[in-house]
Amino acid sequence: MHRHEVEGAPAQPRLLGPAEIRDLAGILDVTPTKKLGQNFVHDGNTVRRIVQSAGVQPGETVLEIGPGLGSLTLGLLEAGASVTAVEIDGRLAAQLPHTAALMQPGTDLTVVHEDALKVVELPGEPPVRLVANLPYNVSVPVLLHLLEHLPSLRSGIVMVQAEVGHRLAAAPGSKVYGAPSVKAAWYGDWRTAGQVSRLVFWPVPNVDSVLVGFERTAPPGDPAGTEEERRATFAIVDAAFQQRRKMLRQALSGVLGGTSATAAEVLERAGVDPQARGEQLGVAEFLAIARAARFPSDGLG
Ligand code: SAM
Repeated sequence: MHRHEVEGAPAQPRLLGPAEIRDLAGILDVTPTKKLGQNFVHDGNTVRRIVQSAGVQPGETVLEIGPGLGSLTLGLLEAGASVTAVEIDGRLAAQLPHTAALMQPGTDLTVVHEDALKVVELPGEPPVRLVANLPYNVSVPVLLHLLEHLPSLRSGIVMVQAEVGHRLAAAPGSKVYGAPSVKAAWYGDWRTAGQVSRLVFWPVPNVDSVLVGFERTAPPGDPAGTEEERRATFAIVDAAFQQRRKMLRQALSGVLGGTSATAAEVLERAGVDPQARGEQLGVAEFLAIARAARFPSDGLG
């Protein structure tokens, strides 16, 4: 090839636009499935916005869940991150290293073909940041699973269905506050970080999307809650929100001694009003209930 031909050629794109997404899907014979939440981003501006709001630093190791055709992966590599990407779809996982080598040569990508819900360790440097456009039907379980098993994760930005994002970031007393809000708060501080248009996806989803950011904090309580206490707390949270309209002494009777009287006694020892509802309590109060429940009524309370 002559030099002038090289200079005259259009620059090789470094992110996936609609044409590249169409070509890749065609080559791989991929028909996006709803079951795997496959909606691929085909807008470089959205990708760069996500990478920027995540605060990705050159050289750090970033975990991406569900890289798909590589839209966000390429943005993370462009920012200089080392990326570990976990993808459940074998065709997509197999193609991704080739796409990265072609469009972001010389960058550092490790692809793991696995269900994110089964990941308990990863090859290479432990990731410090999570950046992902999550499969929507499993976004909360995936987030809670990763935060439980990968303590190296300090912060992250994820794209999720709007309702889920608002719930994750909700404070006690809010209408959308629920079990995911309390469990997420065990691990850190959460905030919504902007909406994303449906039109940046192929295929266009029938739900709205938001970005949600988190910063990991120490577990609640003083001394901080242990893993065993976390499990006990989450069981109380599940019971409280299964019957969210009921007073806690009723909603928790099944897990606190069998009657509303035994539940009220534990709640009082925890310093929680037995007539309150779960939606009014923060994670530290749920932990206090779990701690109070460990001791019989004539115990340490
Ligand atoms: N990151 C890509 C993008 O922004 O264009 C794709 C995002 S798409 C919403 C979700 C991706 O997660 C798909 O590639 C899908 O195959 C993958 N996925 C679905 N369930 C998964 C799971 N349990 N573990 C890992 N990946 C999963």
